[in-house]
Amino acid sequence: GRWGFGLAGELRQAAARSPERIAVIDDEREVTYAQLLRNAEAVDVRAGDRVGLLCRNSAAMIEALVGVTSRGADPVLINTGLSAHQLEQVCEEQNLAALIHDDEFAERVPGGITTKVEMSGGPGRPPTRPGRTIVLTSGTTGVPKGARRPTPGGFSPLCSVIDRIPLHAGDRIMIAAPLFHTWGFAGLQIALALRATIVLQRRFDPAEAAKALEKHRVDALIAVPVMLQNLLDHPPGRKLRVAAVSGSALPGGLATRFMDSYGDCLYNLYGSTEASWVSIATPADLRDSPTTAGRPPHGTRVEILDDQNKPVPQGEVGRIFVTNEMLFEGYTGQNQRSKTDGLLGTGDLGHVDTHGRLYVDGRADDMIVSGGENVFPAEVEDLLAGLPQVREVAVIGVPDDDWGQRLAAYLVLRDGETLSEDVVREHVRRHRARFCVPRDVVFLTGLPRNATGKVLARDLPRNA
Ligand code: ATP
Repeated sequence: GRWGFGLAGELRQAAARSPERIAVIDDEREVTYAQLLRNAEAVDVRAGDRVGLLCRNSAAMIEALVGVTSRGADPVLINTGLSAHQLEQVCEEQNLAALIHDDEFAERVPGGITTKVEMSGGPGRPPTRPGRTIVLTSGTTGVPKGARRPTPGGFSPLCSVIDRIPLHAGDRIMIAAPLFHTWGFAGLQIALALRATIVLQRRFDPAEAAKALEKHRVDALIAVPVMLQNLLDHPPGRKLRVAAVSGSALPGGLATRFMDSYGDCLYNLYGSTEASWVSIATPADLRDSPTTAGRPPHGTRVEILDDQNKPVPQGEVGRIFVTNEMLFEGYTGQNQRSKTDGLLGTGDLGHVDTHGRLYVDGRADDMIVSGGENVFPAEVEDLLAGLPQVREVAVIGVPDDDWGQRLAAYLVLRDGETLSEDVVREHVRRHRARFCVPRDVVFLTGLPRNATGKVLARDLPRNA
């Protein structure tokens, strides 16, 4: 390419080498690589501006995203789940010059922001620099922060991942994870670099997705764990070569069940908006140890440190730190990312087994301290997920006058199943210490989740 950087550079190369190949199949249309490039080049925005994108997964979103970067403007990827109020904050804090959005979000768009973006430009002159993509964090605690992603210098940072995952040029890749999230965005970068055919749905519907996997002969699926859980209700017409998940922890039992049904195709990537990828577990790792996050890819170093920033002994739990060439460049409005000895803290706690495989025990902030004892929610969740009646489970700490915090378990049962609170408590009592037993046990018909499948603790009912 003429300036082979970032998304626009990848798309130019793909369009030059495989113009007639189908680039994207979405709910409405099929677009070739030549058409995708032409449509992207028609997006007319000003170099240097920040342009928000509020879109569900579609070919039009990819055209807008690549188009914005090819003009030398910076796209800001916005979570479609934000409220009108959060959206207003984001537009202001990110200093957006314009917003490109799907029609369905029109009512949420704040007044005063330009939403009229011309789609009649032409190739024009290449800008002096390609746009820099800004991905917003989920904003679980307050206003979402904008993390500036580095522009990959060509293919190399992606190679470290593709190295571990059998993805090939020309593959048919379904990106079910939202493209506005760092994981879906990474999937897009990989897919364009591979000149893949990208299969998208605006909304993830497991029955439709299962049909599309078969109809479009999909080789690889890029998803978040809860999507795989829902796909299990729809036995596949064909096996997948790759199902790569990231964005939240794999629930206990899911890896084995999914691979028994869809084949030995599961890759679990641990990462974050700030760190990009930290580690990858392969199907062999997950057959052996179904909750591991695997090993760091080539070029990534992971350290488990104690409170004094000293490495913990092997097997012990500590804070997870990482360094690689894909670390974010800082939050918008801030110049520096905060690092310790060149390492970025992920905010998660974890440990490493004797085979060198990493386990993410949970976010440091989510650890429950009950009567002075530490409990990781995931430990109890995985145990409860093992009950055959249980479909989904979340465990959180709630304030308690006597114990500081107590455990509350929220369960969604499989169709037609029943379970009593006492059986749930007894199951935990039999396998874990007394302080792991949830005092509150609540049955729900579904768990409140964000777009990447993380359970929204603040939206769980507090009845007790
Ligand atoms: P915010 O900072 O606004 O709350 P967020 O942290 O939820 O946003 P992400 O960057 O998507 O946004 O989340 C990264 C976090 O998700 C990781 O730090 C980790 O806690 C969790 N996570 C991601 N992938 C995995 C995985 N494979 N296994 C376990 N946990 C994971």
